[in-house]
Amino acid sequence: MNYHIARRAASLTPSITLAIDAKAKQMKADGIDVIGFGAGEPDFPTPKHIVQAAIDALNAGFTKYTPSSGMPELRQAAADKFKRDNGLAYKPSQIIISCGGKHSCCNVILATCDPGDEVIIPAPYWLSYPEMARLAEANPVIVQTTDQSEFKITPAQLRAALSPRTRLLILNSPGNPTGSLYTSGELKALGDICVEHGILIMSDEIYEKLIYDGAQHTSVASFSPRHYEQTIIVHGLAKAYSMTGWRIGMTAAPEPIARAIDAIQSHSTSNPTSFAQKGAVAALNGPQDHLAGWLAEFDRRRAYAWKRLNSIPGVSCVNPKGAFYLFPNISGTGVKSMEFCAQLLERQKVAAVPGVAFGADDCIRVSYATSMANIEKGLDRIEQFVRTRNG
Ligand SMILES: *Cc1c(COP(=O)(O)O)cnc(C)c1O
Repeated sequence: MNYHIARRAASLTPSITLAIDAKAKQMKADGIDVIGFGAGEPDFPTPKHIVQAAIDALNAGFTKYTPSSGMPELRQAAADKFKRDNGLAYKPSQIIISCGGKHSCCNVILATCDPGDEVIIPAPYWLSYPEMARLAEANPVIVQTTDQSEFKITPAQLRAALSPRTRLLILNSPGNPTGSLYTSGELKALGDICVEHGILIMSDEIYEKLIYDGAQHTSVASFSPRHYEQTIIVHGLAKAYSMTGWRIGMTAAPEPIARAIDAIQSHSTSNPTSFAQKGAVAALNGPQDHLAGWLAEFDRRRAYAWKRLNSIPGVSCVNPKGAFYLFPNISGTGVKSMEFCAQLLERQKVAAVPGVAFGADDCIRVSYATSMANIEKGLDRIEQFVRTRNG
C-alpha cells in the first residue's frame, strides 16, 4: 500500500539526535560504560509531598475527566504563582493547563499562526519550535546568534527579521540548549519592538527557577500593559519540580488567546491527567525548599564542567546563567557537531547532543543533569578525545 502522508507531517524532520541516542542506549544495553550528557531532565526525584498528593488523589478515586482546560484549583494555583513570582495578574480563565510545556508551545502556535505566517525563532533554538511552526503551516524565520552575544539576539537582528507576515517571536530565557539568560534590559528592548509592530511573543519560561550567580529572571509580560497584552507565557512543572513524566504544562495568555487554546485542547487532548494535576497543585502551593539544594548541586557541576571544557584545546564555552546545559563551541577542533558527537560516542563512549539539532553546528550540548562522578569521568574522556583525535 502506498500510503498518503499529509504534507504537514511529511515536512517534519525526525529528530536527528535520535540516531545518537539510540546508539548510546544500545551500547548501554550491551554493557558498555557510556557516560550520558544528553539528559533533558533533572536527575533528582520528584519531591515526596508531590508524589504523595497524586497517590492520595488516586486512592480517593480522582480518576475521571476534569475540565478540559484544567482543574479550577490548579488554574488558581498557577495564577497565584504568576502573581507571587512575576507580579503578573492573571485570572484563572487566562490559564490553560496542558499536557506538558511542549504541548503548551504547540497550542500557542496553532492558536495564533495561520498558514504562511512567519514565526521568528532565535537560533540556537529548542528543536521543537521550528517543527511546531511547520505543523501550523507557518514559516519559521531563524535568526542566527553566536557565542559572541552569549547566544542572544539583538534588537537590530530582530528588526531585520520582521516582515509584514511576522506573527510571533519565540523567546526562551533561560534557554535550552544554551542556558543563556536575557537581562531585563535586553528583554525589554526586544519586547518594545514587538509592541511597536503588534507582534505576539511566546515566552517560554520553563527554566525560570534554574538560575545561578544571583542573576534575575524577568518576564517580558511584566514591562507594561502593552507587553502583557502581547505576551503568552509558557510554563510547566517539568524542570523546577523534576516532573518531566507527569506531563503538566501551562499557558498564561490574554483572554481571547486563552479561549482559542482551550478550544484546540478541548478537541485534541482534553484535560491533562487528573491525578497529575493534583500533584501539580501540591507542587505550586506547597513548600519550595527542594530548590535550594538542587540549585547548589547544579551550580557546583556547572562551575566544574565549564572550567574543564574551557581548558580543552579547540573548545570554548560561555558561562551560562541558567538551565542545566553547557553549549561549548567545538569549531577549534576542526569538526562539525554531528561528526564530533558520533566519534566521541564511538571512541570514548560519551553521549552528547550535536548542536546542529538546535541550529548551531559549531557547538555541542552537554547536560550536567547527571552525577558529579559522571561529569568528571565524561570530561576526562572528552579531553582525551580532543587531544588524541588528530594524533
Ligand atoms: C523541557 C522544555 C519544555 C517543556 O517540557 P515538558 O516536558 O513538555 O513540560 C519547554 N521548553 C523547553 C525549552 C524545554 O527545554
